[in-house]
Amino acid sequence: PRIAIAIDGPAGAGKSTVAREVARQLGFLYIDTGAMYRALTLKALRRGINPADEPALEALARESRIDLTAGYGGGCRIFLDGEEVTEAIREPAVSRNVSLVARVPGVRSNMVRRQREMAENSAVVMEGRDVGTVVLPGAQVKIFLTASPEERARRRQRDLLAKGHHLSLEQLIQEIRERDRLDSSREVAPLVPAPDAWIIDSSHLNTDQVVEMIIGRIRG
Ligand code: C5P
Repeated sequence: PRIAIAIDGPAGAGKSTVAREVARQLGFLYIDTGAMYRALTLKALRRGINPADEPALEALARESRIDLTAGYGGGCRIFLDGEEVTEAIREPAVSRNVSLVARVPGVRSNMVRRQREMAENSAVVMEGRDVGTVVLPGAQVKIFLTASPEERARRRQRDLLAKGHHLSLEQLIQEIRERDRLDSSREVAPLVPAPDAWIIDSSHLNTDQVVEMIIGRIRG
């Protein structure tokens, strides 16, 4: 099997930045699995599908084309039925609804199948919630990256501000806690570290330090 690095953890722990940089340094393909759930959520919102309507969401997953390609600066560009939605999937409305879509078992099995196919074709750094536990349990390196809710909310607030969205810290902390609760309590693929994952708390570490720790372990 190809080499795979799994990076899982809660929202706002810095997974994307870290995963992108690790992939860049190793020359691996970076895959953002959350972007796939976000793309599907965007489509459901546009169609006015109720996020509690499981059969409709399952059908939507089956009929949707979702493509990921390498973007500038090592990022991931995402296309939904051929339309680029890289920016659109970051909108607050998508963030608020994505956990509801991602808890539908038929949606997850569909996305997991696609993610495994991608890892068959290249060496990957795959980022998500269940990569080390469900998608690629045979991954050679598994990282569970976490940070305190307050620190994660502060980071998210900075990111959103850079894109012109003003949200209060209180609101973001509340949203993060709610997303954590939904993600860790759902029945299918709850957000928990794989038994063989290396748990890194990034509350007091910057991106470079985390990347160095991971690369150091891989080059060992
Ligand atoms: O990583 P990101 O915040 O973009 O993920 C958005 C949401 O997608 C998560 O809150 C989670 O509900 C869901 N997700 C998931 N499994 C993954 C990746 C993301 O359930 N592997």
